[in-house]
Amino acid sequence: MGSPGALDRVAGAHDAAVLAVARRGEPVSRAELAAALQVTPQAISKILGRLMGRGLVAEAGTVIAGPGKPTTLYRMEPGSRRAIGLHLTRSRLHGVVADLSGEIIARRELEIGRLQPVPELVATLAAQARELAGHGDGELVGVGLGMPGPVDAADGVYRGTSWPDPWRGAPLRALLAAELDLPVLLDHDSRAALVGETWSQPGLLRDAALLLVEDGLGAALCLDGRIVRGAHSHAGEVGHTVVRLDGEPCTCGRRGCAQAEHQAALAAGDDALAARIIASIVLDLVRLVDVDRIVLGGRTVHAHHGRTMDAIREVLEAGLHGEPWQHVEVMLSTRGTDLIAVGAACEVLEHEYGIPQALVGAG
Ligand SMILES: [Zn+2]
Repeated sequence: MGSPGALDRVAGAHDAAVLAVARRGEPVSRAELAAALQVTPQAISKILGRLMGRGLVAEAGTVIAGPGKPTTLYRMEPGSRRAIGLHLTRSRLHGVVADLSGEIIARRELEIGRLQPVPELVATLAAQARELAGHGDGELVGVGLGMPGPVDAADGVYRGTSWPDPWRGAPLRALLAAELDLPVLLDHDSRAALVGETWSQPGLLRDAALLLVEDGLGAALCLDGRIVRGAHSHAGEVGHTVVRLDGEPCTCGRRGCAQAEHQAALAAGDDALAARIIASIVLDLVRLVDVDRIVLGGRTVHAHHGRTMDAIREVLEAGLHGEPWQHVEVMLSTRGTDLIAVGAACEVLEHEYGIPQALVGAG
């Protein structure tokens, strides 16, 4: 993560893969792991030895399967590691601390109320992280911070909008890492949300878009089992696709963007139009990248999700009428308003332990 603090990465792809299989919930045997990874039981013994030595995996009893020695079972130790996830908006900070399985140990919410200057903001973020660090007893791996974009995840910098923005250009990852002396990962809120969702619905979201409706409107994409970032970390900015020429002015400098039109519709009390705008960009996404699952998340959509889901289903049905083979499922996020914070924590754990999404749900 390019920041101070002891890194705790697993040794390699095989260790990560064993951890991924062990994470599924049911205890597994050496033979099952060998079959899942297509390596010898001897190799699995070595990997298990390493992971058990680090407390990541533990024995979980034995079963008697036929004659001979009982078979030992293994499982991941969820409580062995923790990560903190912070979800920052312009007015609120929602934080969680989660274990290695992505389960929330504790959560905290803070209304900030105004746009703090960067040094004060970093102090606020650090204070909440320190408070959350007091919950649970696994080794603390790091802190994930999810926030509205534009965010450069690779450089750990908040790029900012074209409107006056005191956070523009702030190297938030480096500042927070220095303050906490822990690895920090910064990402776009929608991508953190999608990681969180792939952890709670393992293997289901191979070709999926998560549409996040908070103060803004954005999406994150998982294509062929991989979360897409793009050349500048901006893939999925559907909120800035124009739905009305010469429409409402937008923070990006253009007019008629879906995000600006959606906000104007909500401000005018026209929930039906707001839902139709979302539905329209969902169909565009389906056309553009051919996803078969759409996950809706974010505070604003939770407040209006019945109407929004109905509008999306209607628009998809009408839009894909001539293509009955193109089945698209629309679902609401399973993590409620914790989605981005817990997703940011899962991103840190995924980064450290390389738990491959494709394997998590396989078999
Ligand atoms: Zn825009």
